[in-house]
Order: sequence, then structure tokens, then C-alpha cells
Amino acid sequence: MEKYLNQLNEAQLAPTLQKDGPMIIIAGAGSGKTRVLTIRIAYLMHQGVDPFNILALTFTNKAAREMKTRISDIVGNSEAKNLWMGTFHSVFAKILRYEADRLGYPSNFTIYDTQDSDRLIASIIKEMNLDKDVYKYKQIRSRISSYKNSLITVKAYFNNPELMEADAAARRPQMGNIYKNYVERCFKAGAMDFDDLLLKTNELLTRFPNVLAKYQDRFRYILVDEYQDTNHSQYLIVRALSDRFQNICVVGDDAQSIYAFRGANINNILNFQRDYDGVAVYRLEQNYRSTKNIVNAANSVIDKNQNKLEKVVWTANDEGQKIKVNRLMTDGDEGRYIASTIFETKMNEQLHNSDFAVLYRTNAQSRAIEDALRKRDIPYRIYGGLSFYQRKEIKDVLSYLRLILNPADEEALKRVINFPARGIGQTTVDRLIVTANAEDKTIFEVIQNISNLDININRGTQGKLQDFATMIESFQVMNTNANAFELAEHVVKVTGLIREFNKDGTPEGVAKMENIEELLNGIKDFVEGQREIVDSTASLSEFLEDVALATDLDADKGDPDHVALMTIHLAKGLEFSHVFIVGMEEDLFPSAMSMNTRSELEEERRLFYVALTRAEKQAYLTHTLSRYRWGKLIDAEPSRFIEEIDEQFLDIITPMEERRFNPMLDASIFGDIEPNKVRFAKPKTAPTRQKKERKAPEKFQISSPKKMKPVSKTSGGGNLFDSKLVAGNVVNHQRFGRGEVLKIEGKGQDLKAEIAFEKGGTKKLLLRFAKLEVI
Ligand code: ATP
Ligand code: MG
Repeated sequence: MEKYLNQLNEAQLAPTLQKDGPMIIIAGAGSGKTRVLTIRIAYLMHQGVDPFNILALTFTNKAAREMKTRISDIVGNSEAKNLWMGTFHSVFAKILRYEADRLGYPSNFTIYDTQDSDRLIASIIKEMNLDKDVYKYKQIRSRISSYKNSLITVKAYFNNPELMEADAAARRPQMGNIYKNYVERCFKAGAMDFDDLLLKTNELLTRFPNVLAKYQDRFRYILVDEYQDTNHSQYLIVRALSDRFQNICVVGDDAQSIYAFRGANINNILNFQRDYDGVAVYRLEQNYRSTKNIVNAANSVIDKNQNKLEKVVWTANDEGQKIKVNRLMTDGDEGRYIASTIFETKMNEQLHNSDFAVLYRTNAQSRAIEDALRKRDIPYRIYGGLSFYQRKEIKDVLSYLRLILNPADEEALKRVINFPARGIGQTTVDRLIVTANAEDKTIFEVIQNISNLDININRGTQGKLQDFATMIESFQVMNTNANAFELAEHVVKVTGLIREFNKDGTPEGVAKMENIEELLNGIKDFVEGQREIVDSTASLSEFLEDVALATDLDADKGDPDHVALMTIHLAKGLEFSHVFIVGMEEDLFPSAMSMNTRSELEEERRLFYVALTRAEKQAYLTHTLSRYRWGKLIDAEPSRFIEEIDEQFLDIITPMEERRFNPMLDASIFGDIEPNKVRFAKPKTAPTRQKKERKAPEKFQISSPKKMKPVSKTSGGGNLFDSKLVAGNVVNHQRFGRGEVLKIEGKGQDLKAEIAFEKGGTKKLLLRFAKLEVI
């Protein structure tokens, strides 16, 4: 343990060593808040606190897993695995499952994801005959979500004339009734949506004092990371659970509060000292993550916010490179610039793809970047898009599984009742819903009793419905003695799902089959993983819960060495060596929708602060002169946030001329490589293009026809080393020092040398850019 405590500086050590009482650590980005939280948990256990008594709440499941792994390293896995650790949603879903019957839910309640909620709301709007252009289901869903996160129940809503008037003024007088129907339908379906997981936990803790006492007693030490982004509902849970022992440690940075739009309440952090007696306040000031340039640049930005706690952030790290600002013509050029820069920097500095991240304000921006990365064969992964578990074919399989566990699950049933097609039409389904609502039964119960009900569905269709119910019932029987994998495999066969996706033979069909296979593999892994744990039921319901709460950061599938693409919101808490922040344009970042009030603009600025402080070594900002938005090409202006950075930290690359970024033309146009620094790459004659680039689409080639000279197939073009450098040469590299050339490979612009450096080990360098001298 000593060893780990030694990894902390004095300021970090103080909160780590304080065992009891309420405490808050407020500190800027990269100052080790998460590290302190981690080591503090290990140290609590070292002092004899039972891991069963420790609850740690993180912002993502991934963060929880990483923390647990680190703690395992310190105290051993057998102890660490007993910690209660996860997101608010995952921890309280487990507790709710245990206590569900008190609230009138089945213990195998379904968790509706946003897609399920959207579908249900859309269906209610339709059933109520409301105008779907006025009652937009996504808006309604977010409104319901904000009610729930503020603990405004349906009853509270109808007791609050102000809320009702506000909705009426927004031309949505039926809002309250939609809310009411939605809540009733979820309840009847034995389903909780994401917000319910918090709302129902609050209900549980308020209505049942003995339950509250039980969990207060269990969670004697509570720790919360990213506390600045907790919403009211989360705040109340933490408050209630910590009330008895008051051993609560929260860490956060008000400057990184970026989820106000989802109900996060920055006052939770600002008022913490008022909520508990004798709060110890700790501040950390030293940043260990980033270079001086990045830390100081970020400080200069956040300084512009009026509403903030004064903080000092400094670093003893190197000065580092200035932040590179680059202007491109279009988003396509922006993508190509990023792909080229990653390609070269990776070779030049011996980095991995996973050292790079591209952060954007909106998901839509990823497309142009993806295109460019694909053309360069750079592996990447988009985080936060449609997650694996939300793909249609996967949801179809999961819906069958959900229905087995909880036949009341209306959204699952509607999804699969006629998929694969079994002759049950939409009219039939609509009639089933009407009867279910009228009889206060679930749709599945209506189907099971169909011959006894007065329902306008013909005999033939009734037979098909009964067959469907019988099939689901047979799966339920199987579920009592088969494991989740065996059951899932059986289900995809018997339902005809496999046949359905197999039959079309198109590449999309094949991809879908592969995804289903991947899902089955995942279930198998899960079952096998659970087997190691004594007492585990390895049950289908546990698997489905994991899936329902999986955020896209969790499912780390495929090649782990990939460039990460994500929105800035998702990047919170993460760090990468090189970070591109793209689309630095007015109306995009800051977003056009967030410039009406100072507080909105300040939230955008905090978002920019979060983005910048993700970078360890190098940050790049890009903006374009024009960009496609809402299907139109519009002129774009550089973001005010660029100007807000103190100029001394910036390296503004003014293109020699405004032209399309085309990596094939000549190396000096690589905005970030100043012409005089390109020592070996400056072509005297026609540059050699890479093989890959020859396949570039026609449009791309036409853009600068004058420069496109025929490709030399044999020579390395202007590369000085083409003939000179051979294995056995001793060279000197600016950063890596002396080394011996082991091997030369590749051709032309792809020419690489494998060099064994005396200090830095063996590296492969792209000769175009390697700053080498032959000794
Ligand atoms: P954020 O605000 O972005 O969540 P944070 O305050 O949680 O940042 P950490 O992620 O804990 O900061 O730490 C930032 C980086 O600095 C990590 O790579 C961490 O391992 C490293 N670090 C933290 N403290 C120290 C230390 N005392 N010595 C060396 N490295 C440290
Ligand atoms: Mg952190």
C-alpha cells in the first residue's frame, strides 16, 4: 500500500488519508481527482473497511471497471470484486431488482432504453389522435425525462399549475396526459426507463424507512466521481444514503459541468458545504496530464467565465508544442487533414492509433472524418453512435429474450410479434392494444385469452397469435433449465430469425448475421464468465440488465488500437496523447442553440475546456470556411473560442493559399509542417503519390487537375533517402538519438526504415518525415 500512497503528491495524500467524515475535492482537469478516489478506496480497504460497505459511483461503466482493475492490483481481486462500483444507473438497477416487489414491479422488470421510450411515446401520441408535428416524440421524451429527474411525478405535475400553463403555452396542453399514459403503460409493461431507475430509487428510499436504513448501513463509505454533473434525483439519493454515517467523499470540477441540458445541477457541487456539517474541502492544483502549453491555454479560456470557483491549475510537465490551429476549405478537407496528420505523426513519433482522439460537438460531424480515415486505412471507432445493442437485428433477438423473462414487456412484444413475418398485421396489433387498455391486461395476456374475449380478429389470425404465445411459453419453460446461451441459440433458430437474415444474401444481410453471431458469442462469454463466480445464477436477466445499461464506451469490440471518435460530452474524464477538436466554428461550437444566454454560452465554454484538457501532448483545432449543414453549404466563421485562447499558446497555420487540402500535392501544404522543416520530403519534381491515394474518387482528383502529374511507379520521387540510406548505416535522430538502420522497406513516399536506437529501442520511421542525419 505504501508504494501506492507514494504515487500521490502531498495535496492528494491529505484527502486519501482522511478516513471519515464528509469531504469534497474541487480541482481542475487532470489534477488526479480520479486517481485520489481510486487509491482512497484501496486505502479504506487497507484500513479494514469491508468492501461490501463501500459504494463508488462513476460517470461511465468503463470508468468503474478501470477503477476496479486498479484497486484489484493494489488489494487483490478477491476483495475488490465485492466493491459496489458503477454508474448510478447500474448500481441502483441492481438494488431495485432486489426491492422491486415493494414498488409493485416484477423483479425481472425490463429496462426500456431511449428507443423503447420513443416508440412507446410515439404510439401513445398516435392512440390519442394528437398531431405528431406538434407533439414531437423526442421532445416529449426529453420533457418527461426532465420531470422525472426533478422528481416531478404525474401527480406533482397535475398539482402544479405553472407547469401545466407552460405546456399549454407551448401548444401542448395534452403533455400531462401523455406523461400519465406513458407512466401507466411502462408500469403495466413491468418496465422502467433510465430515469425511473433514479426516480424509483428515490421513491423506495423515501417510502420505506427500513429499506433506507438497510442501505445506509450497507453503504458506510460513499464516493462520487464527476460530482459536478449529478442531477437532482442523483443528488437526493446520495444525500439520503450518506445521511447516517456522513462518510461521503465527492470529487469534481465546476469548470467541467457540461450536462445542464440533461438536468445536471452545478449547485450540487457549489452547495455541498451547506449540506453536511464539518465538510473538509481539498484542492488539487498540479496537473499531471498535459503540457504547460495546454494547461495554460485551457486556463486562459475558462478565465472568461464569470460564474466559476477560482482555481489554480499548473503543471511541472514540459512546455510542449503549441496548439495547432488549422483552417480548411470544407469538412472533407478537414477530414483529410486529420487523417494525413494522424498517419504522419504516428509514423514520425512512433505512436499508436489509440493515442489519437477526434472530438466534435455533434455526432453528425463524424461522417467526413470517418470517410477520410477509411481511405487511409486508419482503424477508428465511433463512440456514442448507435450502440451495438441498438442495431435492429440485435434488438430483435434481445426483444425475444426480454419477452421470455417479462411477457408484459409491450415494446419487445410489438417488435417481434410479426418479425419474422407470421401474418399478424398492424391492424391486429392495434386492436390488441385497444383491448389490452380497455381490459387492463397486458397484450400478452390478451393473446393468451383471445378465444374468451370479444375482439374483432378473425379465427385464422387468432390461431397465429396463439401459436406465437405458445412459442414464447415454450421458451419460458426452457429458460428454467438451460443457460442464457443455449436459450438464445435455440431462440434464433426456432423463431426463424437466422433464416430471415440469411435469406437475402446481400452484404447487409451477411453483416446482420455476423452481428447476431457476435451477440451469441457475447452471451456465451457472459455465461462462462459468470460460472467462475460461486452462487451466480448466470441468468438471462443479468445479461439483459448489463446490455440495457451498456453505454457505448463499454463495448470495446474489435481492434483495440483504433483512433477514438466521439463527442466532447462523452470524452469527459478520458485522456489521449493527441487530440483534434474539430468544427471550431461559430454556430457549431459554440452551438447556435446555446448562445442566447450567458449561462448557456458559459456551458459551451466549459465544454471547450473539457475538450482541450483531454490532450496530454498535442491539441489541434480545426475550422473550415464552409460546411454542409442542414443540407446546405454555408459559410463558416472561426469560433470565438479560438480567439479566447491566449495567442502565445497557439500556432496558427495560415495556409499559403486557400485551397483544397490535398495530401497528394506537395508536402508543404500539410498545414502543420512548415515548409522549412520538411527536410527530406520537399519534392523537387512531381511528388509520388501513395498507392492508396490512386484509388481516390474521381471528384477528388479533379479538384486540382493541374498538379496531377503521372505517377512514377519506380522511383521514390524526391526522397533523398531513396538510394542513400541502407541497412547498417548509423544515423542520428533529433529525438531518439543515435541508432543503426536494420532494414529499409516500402517504396516512394511509403519508404520506411527500421532503426535500432541506442536509447529508444527499435522503431520504424517514415523516411519522408524522419529527421535523420547519416553519421
Ligand atoms: P479530469 O478532471 O479530467 O477527470 P482528474 O482530475 O480526474 O481529471 P486523473 O485522471 O486522476 O485526473 O489524473 C490525470 C492523469 O495524471 C492520469 O494519467 C493520472 O494517472 C496522472 N496522475 C495523477 N496524479 C499523479 C501523480 N501524483 N503523479 C503522477 N501522475 C499522476
Ligand atoms: Mg477524473
